[in-house]
Amino acid sequence: MPHTHRLMAERPFNLEALPTDGKQFHPNRDEAETEFKALRKEFVQLQRQLYAEGKQKLLIVLQAMDAGGKDGTIRNILKGVNPQGVRVHSFKVPSKEELAHDFLWRIHKAVPAQGMIGVFNRSHYEDVLVVRVHDIVPEAVWRPRYEQINNFEKLLHDTGTRILKFYLHISKDEQKERFQSRLDEPEKNWKFSLEDLEKRKFWPHYMTAYEEMLQQCSTEWAPWYVVPANQKWYRNLTIMRTIVQTLRDMNPQYPEAEANLDQVVIE
Ligand code: AMP
Ligand code: MG
Repeated sequence: MPHTHRLMAERPFNLEALPTDGKQFHPNRDEAETEFKALRKEFVQLQRQLYAEGKQKLLIVLQAMDAGGKDGTIRNILKGVNPQGVRVHSFKVPSKEELAHDFLWRIHKAVPAQGMIGVFNRSHYEDVLVVRVHDIVPEAVWRPRYEQINNFEKLLHDTGTRILKFYLHISKDEQKERFQSRLDEPEKNWKFSLEDLEKRKFWPHYMTAYEEMLQQCSTEWAPWYVVPANQKWYRNLTIMRTIVQTLRDMNPQYPEAEANLDQVVIE
């Protein structure tokens, strides 16, 4: 059985001791890419059935440090999927209107409807990450959010949403290399932001915030997966394996056809 990297956080753990390097879990990049493509075909098929069935919902949450690979994951995973059945939401700095509501208001509006797959590029978890690290609100406000998030995700789960949460775990050195290529390659310049360098200075603070987030919010109904993400090919493969396994388990079925279709004659 391949490693799923599902977090079992009964005991405290040290996030920086968890692997960022995928090579140790898969010896061969070519084989990984072949398996990935086969799984992606199966994903496309299962998604069709999920959409046709129109009953179940799947929510995929992606979190990572800057340059952690959220955009690339979305591009690779969703390639070839029927766009009508998927919604990607990228959560940015909240607007004035969003800030005038509770932190889950904008999130709840974006969760998938029946038959749909929702992908969150950043999420409600920013409200215990960037918000915590940069003291955007006091601890008395962010501290209760772990429980509020667990309750919110339980509500989604109890009303028919499967939830998968992936933390793309890269090393600080890998982030440096990816930032550098954003500087060096003109077509990547647009992705570079000086603000990201500011956030990099807070790396240890982010690791502490991620660690507590993973510890507090990896539940039975909404598990976190800590994906070694220094190698994009391994990251893609392990995430795809988990998504396909989950959809197989959800087992969506095409609805019953109307009776006696074989007697229908089209004039
Ligand atoms: P990007 O993902 O590069 O487009 O950047 C989006 C930015 O929005 C990141 O710097 C996030 O930290 C920030 N952001 C997302 N959600 C929140 C939030 N709830 N509060 C503050 N900043 C946020
Ligand atoms: Mg960015």
